[in-house]
Amino acid sequence: MPEVDCKKYLTLSGLEPLVVTPESNFINVGERTNVTGSRKFLRLIKEEKFNEALDVARDQVEGGAQILDVNMDEGMLDGVEAMTTFLNLIASEPDIARIPIMIDSSKWEIIEAGLQVVQGKCVVNSISLKEGEEEFKRQAKLIKRYGAAVIVMAFDEKGQADNYERRIEICERSYNILVNEVKFAPQDIIFDPNIFPVATGMDEHRRNALDFFEATKWIRENLPYANVSGGVSNVSFSFRGNNVVREAMHSSFLFHAIKNGMNLGIVNPTMLEVYDEIDKELLEHVEDVLFDRRDDATERLLDFAESVKGQKKTQETATLEWRNQPLQDRITHALVKGIDAFINEDVEEARLQATKPIEVIEGPLMIGMNVVGDLFGSGKMFLPQVVKSARVMKKAVAYLQPFIEAEKDGKQAFAGKILMATVKGDVHDIGKNIVSVVLGCNNYEIVDLGVMVPPEKIIETAKAENVDIIGLSGLITPSLDEMVYVSKAMEKENLNIPLIIGGATTSRAHSAVKIAPHYSNTVVHINDASRAVTVVGNLLQKDNQVYKDQIRDEYDQFREQFLKRGKKKEYLPLAEARKNKFKIDWETTEIIAPEQLGIHVLEDFDITKLEAYIDWSPFFRSWDLHGRYPNILKDEIVGEQATELFDDAQEMLKRIFDDRLLKAKAIFGLFPANTIDDDDIEIELNGTTKKFLTLRQQSKKAQGKPNIALADFVAPKSTGKQDYLGCFCVTTGFGTQEIAAQYEKDNDDYNAIMIKALADRLAEAFAEYLHKEVRTNYWNYAKNEELSNEELIKEAYKGIRPAPGYPACPDHLEKETIWDVLKVEQTIGVKLTDNLAMWPSASVSGYYFANAEARYFGLGKITDDQVKDYSERREITLEEAQKWLNPNIVNEA
Ligand code: SAH
Repeated sequence: MPEVDCKKYLTLSGLEPLVVTPESNFINVGERTNVTGSRKFLRLIKEEKFNEALDVARDQVEGGAQILDVNMDEGMLDGVEAMTTFLNLIASEPDIARIPIMIDSSKWEIIEAGLQVVQGKCVVNSISLKEGEEEFKRQAKLIKRYGAAVIVMAFDEKGQADNYERRIEICERSYNILVNEVKFAPQDIIFDPNIFPVATGMDEHRRNALDFFEATKWIRENLPYANVSGGVSNVSFSFRGNNVVREAMHSSFLFHAIKNGMNLGIVNPTMLEVYDEIDKELLEHVEDVLFDRRDDATERLLDFAESVKGQKKTQETATLEWRNQPLQDRITHALVKGIDAFINEDVEEARLQATKPIEVIEGPLMIGMNVVGDLFGSGKMFLPQVVKSARVMKKAVAYLQPFIEAEKDGKQAFAGKILMATVKGDVHDIGKNIVSVVLGCNNYEIVDLGVMVPPEKIIETAKAENVDIIGLSGLITPSLDEMVYVSKAMEKENLNIPLIIGGATTSRAHSAVKIAPHYSNTVVHINDASRAVTVVGNLLQKDNQVYKDQIRDEYDQFREQFLKRGKKKEYLPLAEARKNKFKIDWETTEIIAPEQLGIHVLEDFDITKLEAYIDWSPFFRSWDLHGRYPNILKDEIVGEQATELFDDAQEMLKRIFDDRLLKAKAIFGLFPANTIDDDDIEIELNGTTKKFLTLRQQSKKAQGKPNIALADFVAPKSTGKQDYLGCFCVTTGFGTQEIAAQYEKDNDDYNAIMIKALADRLAEAFAEYLHKEVRTNYWNYAKNEELSNEELIKEAYKGIRPAPGYPACPDHLEKETIWDVLKVEQTIGVKLTDNLAMWPSASVSGYYFANAEARYFGLGKITDDQVKDYSERREITLEEAQKWLNPNIVNEA
């Protein structure tokens, strides 16, 4: 160990120590093991490909990272579990565990889970005064007890520090609390004073870099032993797409930031020019901007940037310049950029040069689409762009169609024929449509049977059309069983072609455990459009047996391990679980009666009101762009794409509002209610009663942790206290199908998918809006609530609205009760399909629980005695009960 005074310097450790002395210059944090920043890493974690995920970490260490940032903040992941698992795995890899870990999360529970397993001395990323001093101190004390260092963001109750004064004000205050009150070692404090973009064209951003430099200097001079860190790439955000300028900017920024005292941070080494080798003129322009040295610094850098990029003098000439290129280049450009304005013209030119019209597809168009495929495959193009490319391709093919038919020169030579269907009882098709489009533009012929497709039709069509692969999709849990059923039917009918499975609730576990054993040909689970192309390509190549055997082996192994893992958990008999319910002291609990009991309908609701309540993050996810809104718009990797997609969404939203394309309708009811017979909730409705059935967790809990059922959140009848419960259904889906069909007819899948994705967003926004109205108006149990949309999305309010089919109440049959109680179909027209999906699909339903203790949870495995008990409560056969309660294999783990 080097001879330095560890008491003065930040000292971290993995297996080896890392002492951050003034001589260390700059400590580089590796950030590819971050699910919010790396699509690849996210996919690996989601698919539980931990070996490959470890390779990502190893690459970082070998590439020179001195600290490894690990982040598992993604909605679809169990962050606590993912963090724990991954850190445990790292611990057994000495070449990775060599360096210290940075536990990165915006959720305290994930940070704490990480702190409990990480070895060595790590850094927590991050805490701040955002939630107030109490929470800040609480977290800091715990971090101190766990023996970690900490990153403190320049963020307080009023928001993020965005100028010099605010930066030093917040850092100083944080420092004083940490050092004087919490007794945190000052050398273990790392400030992140926010690196923001410059040259954005906005005056208030002109000092962003300069303020950072000066604040850094101030911190290092005035807050003894404290360190300064930051994420560098943010500074060049407005030059996305122009790497020459970005690299120069990063190097110059880093050079000056280090001079001012920044001693660690995140920099992408491949996006860094050597400072001394930056073109002198470029450097001058860059530093004019960084130091805000001239009023016209931004314009001058922008002009100069155009010239170093070697193209595009002005917008107008830029759009037309590519038109001077040779024909193939123009076609490729149009496909890659998704520009359809000139495609007919170019295709006509190509047709005149070709001997047969079909050659235009097989030649120039496929050459262009191959470029798209390669870019997409290597992560340089994103899903929305590919869907736009497909639109250009479809237009081109549509243009050629009459010529091909007139020539009768046979069919286009497709690489294979694929049947796609959303299974019976399910109506969700955004993911399926995206995969179809992506496969379509990779030269596969798609036979799309749409939604709610019965098994007989799938098999009949597969035979009649002689397809090469069947793709099944579904979103709700009953679809999982439906897929098993289809695979068995395929086996019986000797179909003998590969089966691909996709959709939100599907999983590798489900495919491996529940489907693969029943089907002799290959079964593959795919939840990612770019992987679909690779997998289908492998499945349909000439000598595919090796690949198919490999998949079969992988799934066999996975199943074996999975089933072993599943055995570890212990379960309680239902009667015992019931004794360990979630206890609320009803004596002291104040129950507030709804101000407006009964059933309420909102027809002709002004849909434009919902815009403010939209949660945009899932919208980006549906297009395979991962990250949280609004940060995703500035994300280094997907930011540009996300912004373009968002702009398109805004345009469509405007059309929806201006032309009243979609209708928003809602129905909800608030009723006197009490829990009876353990797990049922009885409500009172026009002098009669109805029953909601809830289910109880059965897994054996750690001491003191309850086995919860939703019924625990409503006062039992035996208390003699009158309690209340609500239920609702909202929809914004009427109209969607017609508009999407129109777009599809115009070969515009991009907008067909867009309208559906937006209808879904509006439905969720409506659910959020209505819930707020219930809390603050109809029921009015939270009179003084004032929450921002961000807080609503975080569900910071009192009470919950669990939705049947989700983890706390996986039983979709409950929707039948809601429909019966509210007369949903008769009043607002939303229907339930055979498997109890809502139609139109942009609909949301659920219950309202007002109790402050009410929370979401996962039910986990439901064991046989509860299934039996439930079949009796609901008066259905055991077999039926099994079908509704246990379709999701993942529950059983
Ligand atoms: N802002 C999100 C909201 C949808 S997801 C969006 O726009 O997409 C959150 C909803 O899912 C909750 O409001 C609840 O209705 C449901 N939910 C989440 N977890 C649940 C659980 N464990 N049990 C039951 N319902 C749950």
